[in-house]
Amino acid sequence: MNTVTVNKKIPVGILGATGSVGQKFVELLSDHPWFEIKALAASSKSSGKRYGNAVHWFQSSPLPPQFGQLRVVPCEPDLPCKVVFSGLDSKVAGGIETEFAKAGYGVISNSKNHRMDPDVPLLVPEINHDHLKIVKHQTFGEGFIVTNPNCSTVGMVMALKPLLDQFGLEAVNAVTMQAISGAGYPGVSSLDIMDNVIPYIAGEETKMETEPLKIFGSFSDGKIKHSKLTISAHCNRVAVTNGHLESISVKLKKTGSVNEMKAAWNEFRSEPQRLDLPLAPRQPTRYFDEDNFPQPKIHRNIDRGMAVSVGRLRPCPVLDYKFTVLSHNTIRGAAGGAILNAELMVKKGLIPEA
Ligand code: NAP
Repeated sequence: MNTVTVNKKIPVGILGATGSVGQKFVELLSDHPWFEIKALAASSKSSGKRYGNAVHWFQSSPLPPQFGQLRVVPCEPDLPCKVVFSGLDSKVAGGIETEFAKAGYGVISNSKNHRMDPDVPLLVPEINHDHLKIVKHQTFGEGFIVTNPNCSTVGMVMALKPLLDQFGLEAVNAVTMQAISGAGYPGVSSLDIMDNVIPYIAGEETKMETEPLKIFGSFSDGKIKHSKLTISAHCNRVAVTNGHLESISVKLKKTGSVNEMKAAWNEFRSEPQRLDLPLAPRQPTRYFDEDNFPQPKIHRNIDRGMAVSVGRLRPCPVLDYKFTVLSHNTIRGAAGGAILNAELMVKKGLIPEA
């Protein structure tokens, strides 16, 4: 594939623009060098209102005034753009995203509905950028759908990838401590989560156990062949605003020393870094030697929330090694991950300039 230079900003729309992920899209795209927001779409509850009145804005940077004034429109494929980012509620995302793709739009989705479709890439640009080749096997004509993984899957697969490449992996056990913002807004009620840990997140453990198999799968003959890795996940909701922490144990195929594993994380670089994509973290996986790192409050925003932090590597008496992983759930695990996917597609010539 050739790489292209972006001379003119590409108009984009956001589906589900009023939600937790949708407003993160607005924040991250508001000064993006390649994309320009032209449409903000949401449900009938919001459409017709000015975005500033429809959204309950809770990002740490102020809502850019030009978007506050924009009228929210329905999620119908008559938007003034050819590419849409989707942060739609999964109850409606499947049908709406298909409708947009059939109407010739490129859909960069963050929702679960199409993630496991055989002809839809479940993309993490540092890991499986070659899976983008499957887009040409989709049957939407000019349109397409590309997805990014669940917010707890992405931190785990990013931390596993350097180990998989150097030592191979046989089995993984993961226990998550997931932030409240992962449940959208208003999400979990304060009475449920304060002074508490909730040991259940609907559907989450299945996603963590199955999505990595597709992400680590090999692409050949127009198909993604899933990996055979065994993964067990326990998912918990904790009283943290942003940033999913995960305690992970691994069984390696080939012995690796502690120093070799730390170096594998610190030296890992891939396609987004080689292509110098605007939102690519400079160091995608970063190991911390401090005994009590990484922590959500301190490390979630490294490299603009796109880096994955790792620490506490030590032997595991059950599997081979255990360690802790942190990633920002609404940035790397949602809007930022989707934008990185779109940047990769632009650079590979799969999203033409307007
Ligand atoms: P959310 O805060 O509940 O937002 C949902 C969005 O969908 C809102 O903009 C809502 O618009 C819109 N919507 C709901 N029903 C609609 C309909 N019938 N037609 C059109 N639009 C409709 O959810 P979220 O946390 O942002 O999550 C969005 C998606 O991303 C979900 O599929 C979720 O699983 C996934 N995800 C979330 C995270 C995270 O960390 N939060 C991470 C990864 C993936 P109104 O405001 O007008 O109702």
